[in-house]
Amino acid sequence: MTNWIESADSLVLPAKHLIDGGWVDAFGEEIFSVVAPRDGSVLGQIALGNERDVDRAVATARAAFEDRRWSGLRPAQRGAVLRRWAELIQENAADLALTISLEMGKPVREALGVELRAVANCIRWYGEIADKRPDESPAAGDDVVALITREPAGVVAAVVPWNFPLTMTAWKLGPSLVAGNSVVLKPAEQTPYSALKLAELALQAGLPDGVLNVVPGRGHIVGKALGLHHDVDIVTFTGSPEVGRAFLRYSGESNGKRVWPELGGKSASIILPDADLEKAARMTAWGSFYNQGEMCSASSRMVVHRDVVDEVLEHARAQAREMAPADPLDQDAPLGSLVSEAHLERVLGHVRNAVADGAEIVEGSTERAVVDAHPGGSYIAPTILTGVTPGMRIEQQEVFGPVLSVITVDSEEEAIRVANGTEYGLAASVWTRDLGAAHRVSRAVKAGIVWVNCFEEGDMSVPFGGVKGSGFGRDKSAHAIDKFTDLKTTWIEL
Ligand code: NAD
Repeated sequence: MTNWIESADSLVLPAKHLIDGGWVDAFGEEIFSVVAPRDGSVLGQIALGNERDVDRAVATARAAFEDRRWSGLRPAQRGAVLRRWAELIQENAADLALTISLEMGKPVREALGVELRAVANCIRWYGEIADKRPDESPAAGDDVVALITREPAGVVAAVVPWNFPLTMTAWKLGPSLVAGNSVVLKPAEQTPYSALKLAELALQAGLPDGVLNVVPGRGHIVGKALGLHHDVDIVTFTGSPEVGRAFLRYSGESNGKRVWPELGGKSASIILPDADLEKAARMTAWGSFYNQGEMCSASSRMVVHRDVVDEVLEHARAQAREMAPADPLDQDAPLGSLVSEAHLERVLGHVRNAVADGAEIVEGSTERAVVDAHPGGSYIAPTILTGVTPGMRIEQQEVFGPVLSVITVDSEEEAIRVANGTEYGLAASVWTRDLGAAHRVSRAVKAGIVWVNCFEEGDMSVPFGGVKGSGFGRDKSAHAIDKFTDLKTTWIEL
């Protein structure tokens, strides 16, 4: 078994930006210290980009697009590069997983077994579908050939968060690259190294120089400059609702570029009395705490029928006690540290507000958890709040930490009302053995994804994304490729 702590000591971290197939110094002069939240130590330093870095990256991507070095390849050739990239990701999975774990604090076992597996799988999936998507030729008449073809849009800016740093990146890069676009990637400030390493592997796999460029930097500088850039055709974004709306504004203020926002969530898990209560309770609690609760689709609201709430709560509490945070480099850690001290303070602030509003803590605390070996780490124990009622701040606001709110209801109709009662609409789950109830609730819940008797299931063939305040972009599946293409009509008279 890997000794992760020893491996961490010898980990190599890229210090430059990746532009036009090579490592370059940034124009930006701000040196940023990337902090490892497991113990508060400085992991490394990196120069952050500025507007000049964005201009250079976009010009490079544009040149690569216009000379068709990538977009001009046959789809099967692009697919082969992506499949080779997926192989390299697998070969380098331990290094990438360790890098993620150090950057943002998730358990290295989860980074390796879940995130890296998903990343390789995503890139392979788009590599495999590359040459399996036909264009259309409607039957327009004997004297006409009508064609509907899909063309790559041009330069795509991908702006991504830190919580599943490489999964989110792969969800953007797979479909945009397979369609033939060139890309400028801006990783989150907290997770630049894993993104740079992932992109370096793409070059090794044969992606032509300039097709994928990475500019680490601050959101309000590099992200904003990409959003406002007149030579960016599409922004694909995952992150908070505030920044998603900022990108829609940037678009309006610049060239009207397409923006695909994937935003936050406040997902309800509806547990009806006839459900497998232990499974429902444990999976809901797990889905609320997993990845330290730093998950857009986290089942952060457990909406339980009054008849079964006591039994459900016992099982949820047992699950919470099995998920105490530990050093993310500990092979058995069920939870790691939150991404940063600032985020830890935000999450604890939500819990304190909930208590002030009348909720009761039955597991967890309003204070940080201490992991003995690392007093400087940013840890929070899984926290369960009861007495939460619709409209309370904790019931409405995304926490993005390991905090589960329990809301008691008296009927299926009330459960649906509660589920739909926030600004968000990303995901929901319903737990019942009644087929009719499962369908009724699935139809009535306003969400992009509904899980029935499961949580967070699905594969690359189905889209991921939300409605309402959760945005309208869709990652994964063949539909995601369409986001990065333009339809062209060709009407040929014979
Ligand atoms: P964030 O919005 O703060 O940052 C996301 C990215 O946007 C980062 O790269 C950041 O640097 C950049 N950014 C920040 N301010 C910007 C600005 N003014 N202009 C342009 N870019 C800017 O989000 P976060 O804290 O990194 O991630 C957490 C959020 O992401 C949560 O709301 C979560 O629900 C959401 N999320 C959604 C999904 C989904 O698929 N729907 C998946 C994961 C995370």
